[in-house]
Amino acid sequence: MKHKALTILLFGSLTTVLAENPKPMTEKDYLQLIIDNTQPLKFKRGDRLPLYIWSSRINSITDEGEIESLTTALNERGIAVFSSWSAGNQQSIEQAIRQARIQKKLGLRVSVDATGAVYSFCDGSDPTGHVAEDGTKFFDTSFASYRKMGCPFAMEDRYEPMRQKLVPFLEAYKKEGVPLDLWTCDWEIDGPIEWNDAWANSKKCTRCREKIKNLDDFTEFQTELRKIRSHMQKEVFTKTIQKYYPDALIGNYGVYPHDGYRCWYDYFEKDVPAAPAQTYGRARYRKWAHEFDGTGYTFSMPVVYTWWDIWTWQDFEVADYRWFYNMLLVASNSGKHTKAETPLIPFVHYNTTALPAAGAPKDLVPMTEHAYKELLWHMLLRGHDTFAMWCPRNELVQESQLVQEVYAASLEFGEFLSKGTPVTFDVPKPKTDKDAPAVVSALRMGNKLLVRRTDFTDLKDKVTIEIDGKQLEVSRLDGKCQILELK
Ligand SMILES: [Zn+2]
Repeated sequence: MKHKALTILLFGSLTTVLAENPKPMTEKDYLQLIIDNTQPLKFKRGDRLPLYIWSSRINSITDEGEIESLTTALNERGIAVFSSWSAGNQQSIEQAIRQARIQKKLGLRVSVDATGAVYSFCDGSDPTGHVAEDGTKFFDTSFASYRKMGCPFAMEDRYEPMRQKLVPFLEAYKKEGVPLDLWTCDWEIDGPIEWNDAWANSKKCTRCREKIKNLDDFTEFQTELRKIRSHMQKEVFTKTIQKYYPDALIGNYGVYPHDGYRCWYDYFEKDVPAAPAQTYGRARYRKWAHEFDGTGYTFSMPVVYTWWDIWTWQDFEVADYRWFYNMLLVASNSGKHTKAETPLIPFVHYNTTALPAAGAPKDLVPMTEHAYKELLWHMLLRGHDTFAMWCPRNELVQESQLVQEVYAASLEFGEFLSKGTPVTFDVPKPKTDKDAPAVVSALRMGNKLLVRRTDFTDLKDKVTIEIDGKQLEVSRLDGKCQILELK
């Protein structure tokens, strides 16, 4: 997530102004934009998870009739409303309870974004610092100027104060008798992270040197840090929520099961060239620790964004395939390694993400809307359950439309999506840079398959995929799913 934009979304004074609109937009105006630009669902949602739109939240409206009608209109479109938790803020508790009461009355899930209540372990206090040779404390500010990242081995005294940011909300929910079905947050730049100057700083810290045996081995450094990072999330977030709501879905931005490699960079991460990675073109897919299991999280939350630098990694002449290839790689990695019983709720974003201050590379061709919607379909057919769409507010209309159209249309195949098993996670590499292969994804239920094929060239031939030793021929069918039988 882009932190600055997020801050505006969550706590901003709502003075963002659309260019053509001289009046500041209110929170209600933004929600109405989503409602006006999306269609009510045609197909029943059944037990499928709702669509999560990150800015679908009601923080500033206290009139319960108004909250109910907005919540209802969004629900008719499949869209959930989040409650935002803001620590140490009584009004935030009252508003969260108000929203939850209405959702309970309407029979809807109660979903929480606790980003405002999960910062910061690294509060910049002296005890959290790294220890220099002369005994003085020092911090790492290479992730963000506003965050003094401390010593990974000095975090435990922060656990209890951090728990106490969540407890007043949980107590209030219990007292009110309202459910809490999904708890998530965007907890990113805080706690131990191995990138940027972290490794160099740990080498200067006497405590880190003592605690990590082979500090010169990046993988060992990474493993140790991620173990602590997982422990923090489990002890403070997961266990605290589960004490009150043992069945809640719990997850955090960017934490998901995978194959040991990460195929994307967050906006604040700078690579460490000596760190191990797999390469393809100019891409460096970094070796990554298995942090998900240690957190105790109950849903998986990968990040499938159009990060701008993806454009620069390959020389594929089919512009869309540069984006599609990488994003499907991330989606397939999490789809393949997340257990079937663990919900997979990916963050998604269409418009080119986190462009550098100097602007986009001159030759950058953004992903087309068509390719993005196809990508979303393939994600659903590779084990993803719904989407969590993040975007800055000026992109809200377009981003909401794109993701909601696919979500709503997918409900036609609800049974496949609920009961089907993905049959392929293959992400084909083009044979040459001039080429782009057809991509096939499918969900299997018995001998029936829900199949999506996407083409990027004028290829007319059938494509064959192998399932359990049987061959399935898939004809080209643009923009539609097909139901095929495995013979
Ligand atoms: Zn240290």
